[in-house]
Amino acid sequence: MLEFSQIPVWGVLALPAIALLWYVSLRRNQRNSFDRSRFSTEYFKGLNYLLNDEQDKALEIFVKLVETDWNIIDTHFALGKIFRKNGEIDKAIKIHQGLMARPSLPEKYRDSVLLELGYDYLGAGWFDRAESLFKEVLVHDPGSDKALRHLIMIYEQEKDWYKAIDVAETLYGMDPERAGPMISQYFCELADVSMAKGDRNQAEHNANKALQYDPASVRASILLADIAMSSGDYGKARDMLQQIERQDAEFMPVIIDKLITCHHHQNDAEDLLAYLDQLEKRQSGLPLLKSHAKVIEIHKGRKAAIDYVIEKLKKKPSLYGIQQLVSYSAPDSQDDTAVLMDGLKGAVEMMQVDQAAYQCKQCGFKANTLYWLCPSCHSWGSVKPYACETAC
Ligand SMILES: [Zn+2]
Repeated sequence: MLEFSQIPVWGVLALPAIALLWYVSLRRNQRNSFDRSRFSTEYFKGLNYLLNDEQDKALEIFVKLVETDWNIIDTHFALGKIFRKNGEIDKAIKIHQGLMARPSLPEKYRDSVLLELGYDYLGAGWFDRAESLFKEVLVHDPGSDKALRHLIMIYEQEKDWYKAIDVAETLYGMDPERAGPMISQYFCELADVSMAKGDRNQAEHNANKALQYDPASVRASILLADIAMSSGDYGKARDMLQQIERQDAEFMPVIIDKLITCHHHQNDAEDLLAYLDQLEKRQSGLPLLKSHAKVIEIHKGRKAAIDYVIEKLKKKPSLYGIQQLVSYSAPDSQDDTAVLMDGLKGAVEMMQVDQAAYQCKQCGFKANTLYWLCPSCHSWGSVKPYACETAC
């Protein structure tokens, strides 16, 4: 007799699906007791194989069972999903290939089986096979959201941005608000590639396309600013960077130093100081203190910068502000104050060591690098400067 503890984990997970299969099949076969009895015998045979870890024999029975009533196909999909989630892709493939091989497979279920098999191939890393299945679904159903999204996922993985744009265009026709920001990111990726090749014109073209698809694209504005800076057009770069405040102000700390560089090249110190003053009033929650203090120090002197930081600390005490204040101590001085400040600086740095610079707004993933595509939840543009309540 098989003990419960001997049942493999996947077997325990599969039981709800099997139970559902049993329930549906029983109801479907209620009319004919002979059929029901045969169905039950076969079913229990399959279940027994499954619990005894003889999945090949079990699957053979289950795939045959579905032919007696195609309405129970959903339970096969459920079983396939459990195998897939459990990493037993080969068994999921076996189920779905078995269904595809049945000449009696009703046409209305064909696309669903193709999609499931496509997910299996994706799970196994066989992108080319998955791609051809999703394309086949699109031949029957050009608007299939699942097929379109999974094709896009494949092209994103392969960094084939042209193909990703091509497929996403179909989604854009149906739902521009959802697909626009995606296509915009793909054009930004293309702009990055052009920049790496030194083709500024193509990069600018792609970045402008990105803005067309998503006027709120911070990434496109940064790219256009970089392109303008690389050709010495600091006025244009400044305008592109300043518009980011309207697009998504949370990104201002990312670009503030570039913006300051643009102003410096234009020799407009007064404008810059006034702009930073206003920006800080409008966006009081953003960590802009360090950059602002640096500008004050350059144009008004060290004393003015220290006064500015002290003033800020009085209004809102923060580790970030203390760290800035401590940085004004002279490191080469031998007096006690310098030693004390050095110790304080070390302590503040240690307290800040766990503070990541960026965090994903979707999944909470933290990093010290700005990712446009979150490595954890795969959302585009969701990683932003980390806004902490007390430390910044
Ligand atoms: Zn994320």
